[in-house]
Amino acid sequence: MSVSQLARSIKASPTLKLNETAAKLREKGEPVIHLGGGEPKSKAPLDAVLNCATQLNTGEVRYAPADGLPAMKKAILRYTEENYGRLLNPLNVIVSSGAKQSIMTLLYAILEPKDEVIYPAPYWVSYPEMVKLAGGVPVAVTPEDGTFQPTVPDIADKVGSYTKAIILNSPNNPSGVMYPADFVAEMVAFCEKKNLWLIMDDLYNRLVFDGQKAPNPYDYATVPVEQSKLVVVQGVSKMYAMTGFRIGWALGNREVVEAMTNIQSHQTSGPVTVSQWAAVGALSGVQTAIESLRLTLENQRNVMLERLCAIPGVRVQKPNGTFYCFPDFGAYMKDSQKLAEFLLERVRVVTVPGREFGMDGHLRLSYCGTIKEIMDGVERIKWALDPNAPNELFLGDRKLVRDWA
Ligand code: PMP
Repeated sequence: MSVSQLARSIKASPTLKLNETAAKLREKGEPVIHLGGGEPKSKAPLDAVLNCATQLNTGEVRYAPADGLPAMKKAILRYTEENYGRLLNPLNVIVSSGAKQSIMTLLYAILEPKDEVIYPAPYWVSYPEMVKLAGGVPVAVTPEDGTFQPTVPDIADKVGSYTKAIILNSPNNPSGVMYPADFVAEMVAFCEKKNLWLIMDDLYNRLVFDGQKAPNPYDYATVPVEQSKLVVVQGVSKMYAMTGFRIGWALGNREVVEAMTNIQSHQTSGPVTVSQWAAVGALSGVQTAIESLRLTLENQRNVMLERLCAIPGVRVQKPNGTFYCFPDFGAYMKDSQKLAEFLLERVRVVTVPGREFGMDGHLRLSYCGTIKEIMDGVERIKWALDPNAPNELFLGDRKLVRDWA
């Protein structure tokens, strides 16, 4: 083996790998249904496209400052004031190539070797690998009651002398569950008291259903920004369906933002200028795209939930937001990797094994596709798992034949 021990300890992103598998099968003409995806199907807002195109027409595409274009930071500050009620300084903002890079540079900026980072399970697949890349030790806290709702005492139990940070992602990828306001308030207070970094991965906080609103961590912060270890991570990927533009950002105290900027300046330099123009357009333009996506997703969530509830033995927690749900298929198969492989092989449905998110027995199913994909996808899963189902399944003009025992 010629690669480093660190490189060997890092797993490939399972979700990106699944996208490739699905694309290859589709190319071969296979009737694949992709319930594994992590991106909305809607188009980027017109304001994003137009602002980008107008600037691009000048032909002047230069390096951006390492922490982002001033116009981009200005748009983020306005967004933060409007949506978080906090008027921050440009020095409190770093723009990155996706929220992913913001989290990565943040971890590089704050972790000493062996420092521990705690996060509740189920968790976004990249947290453990990012923590390891930054030389830290990932520590998951797993709620045992099937609610996906961590408690402060359970988290506090894991805090020790090496604990440096806690990451909360709510609404959560993969469960869709949103942590309640009193939990967020207690966690803000807990981290202030223990002098821990609190990383709020707020990527899905505008995609919330049933008339609810995501709690705002700044509402509970009592320490002034410059002394605070609260970092909020955001981006255009999910709320504006702009995954391919790769623009995210982090809000934090000046010292940490400066450290992150130095790291980023050697990693990738500033984020892609063309993408920042698009993101400025999205943030500054008409904001109807978010609400229309949110409504679409809420409807799709309802359809998926209804269909899943019709599969005997499957337990599913109602998602409060995002475009994922995380049903428990343990009654059928405990090994989620095997179950996902079985479903892909037999009925060509792509799902993501729960094991990747720290909870075996579950599958992450996305409802960001079309209603037809959701209905057919869950129907195929149901048919594949039900030993008493008829041998043939008709899906529109397609016929699937059961050829396994
Ligand atoms: N955090 C969470 C919880 C996510 O699900 C994702 C994307 N899947 C990211 C961060 C990164 O988003 P991006 O880099 O596209 O901004």
